[in-house]
Amino acid sequence: MAKALETVLEIDLKALEHNYRYLRSRLQPKTKFLGVVKAFAYGSDTVKIAQKLESLGIDYFAVAYVKEGVQLRDAGITTPILVLHPQPVNFDELIERCLEPSIYSQKILREFLDVAKKYGQKGYPVHLKFNTGLNRLGFLENDIDFISQQLQERNEIKVISIFSHLAASDDLQEEEFTQTQIATFTKTGLQLDNVLGYTPFRHILNTSGIINYPNAQFDMVRSGIGLYGFGNEAKIDAELKPVAQLKTIISQIHKLEPGESVGYNRGYIADGYKVIATLPIGHADGIGRIYGNGKTHVQVNGQKALIIGNVCMDMIMIDITTIDCKEGDEIIIFGNELSAEEFASNAQTISYELLTGISQRIKRVIIED
Ligand SMILES: *Cc1c(COP(=O)(O)O)cnc(C)c1O
Repeated sequence: MAKALETVLEIDLKALEHNYRYLRSRLQPKTKFLGVVKAFAYGSDTVKIAQKLESLGIDYFAVAYVKEGVQLRDAGITTPILVLHPQPVNFDELIERCLEPSIYSQKILREFLDVAKKYGQKGYPVHLKFNTGLNRLGFLENDIDFISQQLQERNEIKVISIFSHLAASDDLQEEEFTQTQIATFTKTGLQLDNVLGYTPFRHILNTSGIINYPNAQFDMVRSGIGLYGFGNEAKIDAELKPVAQLKTIISQIHKLEPGESVGYNRGYIADGYKVIATLPIGHADGIGRIYGNGKTHVQVNGQKALIIGNVCMDMIMIDITTIDCKEGDEIIIFGNELSAEEFASNAQTISYELLTGISQRIKRVIIED
């Protein structure tokens, strides 16, 4: 791999393929696989990731918003795309681009039926979302009468699948709660089948669900973070490969006398003779202020260097006092050796937030093999 000459996010499609195959290997052969590519494919590159997954035979994609689905259609993606959180203002565009909405409330159902009618749709594919305990989006069991009444009167849509989302699939302390969610989902599904007169397919598991609740695969699973190389537990992280590696270089090195300060508001004060390096990456790139002031480290020529002082908009400073390095040397912010999970957890956040926060200012470099 070429040495970085500026800040770059390398995206390793071979790692993506590995993760996809690993997660698939944990599924029943008939279980469909939905790849979650919302938020720029967890901060990487939506189109490149989706194209690779499509070539591997993925069954479905999900995005959060219509705009994200449109980007995939513009790039020639033909796989079905579930839009998890569509806004009514975008329903026209959703239909024009053959995107499939998650319908999660009475209001959304009514509004979608009206737009589908305007376009003369018959049997337009939709997915009904049920709230089984996350209390974020979704119908409740007692909405089934309303759903049933609407669907008996109207033929604009067809329910392709029903789904729900687990609140704590990564936390085995909450296993009882999770099992209750799964049981509620199962029960609601049977009630709905009765009123619809047909059986939509079902899905409830995200990545940690795939790992911890293999009996609840139903007909499809939805994986995001796992595809990008993280399983919310060390044993699974060891099986997966990080897709994104964030690299930068040393812009300048400074020697400090004891008592000298570094950065805005003199956030760091040298308690001895120190050597520091300035890197061309800051909070505008997604390395937020939470990572500053000694919370976490980067890697310089195989050694750990703490981020010191306050993170600036376009720069961070690191302590390289005991590290042999020079201006222009490559720095790993996170990637294969220093994982994004570790980088994030050192600052009390999670890999999801770190990855999806990497801003569009950073150049993406695709590694195909
Ligand atoms: C984001 C999301 C997922 C993916 O979750 P991971 O933990 O990244 O696998 C699955 N389902 C829904 C509804 C989501 O919003």
